[in-house]
Parts: sequence; C-alpha cells; structure tokens
Amino acid sequence: MHELAITQSMLEIVLKQAEQAHAKKVTKINLVIGDMTGVVSDSVQFYLDILTKETIAEGAVVSFTMVPSQAKCRTCNQTFELKEFDWTCPNCQGNIIDVISGKELLVESIEVE
Ligand SMILES: [Zn+2]
Repeated sequence: MHELAITQSMLEIVLKQAEQAHAKKVTKINLVIGDMTGVVSDSVQFYLDILTKETIAEGAVVSFTMVPSQAKCRTCNQTFELKEFDWTCPNCQGNIIDVISGKELLVESIEVE
C-alpha cells in the first residue's frame, strides 16, 4: 500500500510546481518510475484519480516512464538488466555489481494551462 504515500508526495510536488507557474490547471503529469521501486503504475493512477479531485490537477493525463533495473559489473564493466534474484553478471559470472538504474521515482515534468 506504499503507493498511497508515494502518490501523495508526488502530487504535492505537482501542485507546488503548478502554483509556482501560476497555472490554472494541470493537464499532464510525467512520472518516472524505476523497476526496483516495486511501484505499480496502475496503483499510482488509481490514487491520483482520487487525490486530485477538487485540485487543479483533476483530470490531468498521467504519463509513466518505466525504467528497467540495470547494473554494471565491477569486474568486466558489462552493463546488464537485473533480473529478480539473479544478480550475476551474464558476461563473467561475477557478482560484484553496481546498480545504475531502476531506483528512480520522480515527477519528471508537468504541463499546465
Ligand atoms: Zn562481469
């Protein structure tokens, strides 16, 4: 259920940005969500529909950019997609890796009127 808290804080950011832009209405919200966060876009959309009611963001189109989990092997520098429970480099079978993407969770931009 952590999507509710996440969606609330995202909406706060959206409304603050809209206020700073002196917007009358938020028409689009662009979100970036990393695979590793475990955040389900359908849930975020569901909560946004509820939370935006009677705000200037009501009815805004929500666009999700999902970022795959990627890691880089420290041994051979190979970049590869992280699969659940398998954090082994497909190139050298090493397991000393750095996670380079997939933890993103942010409001990339908004469009206003
Ligand atoms: Zn490797």
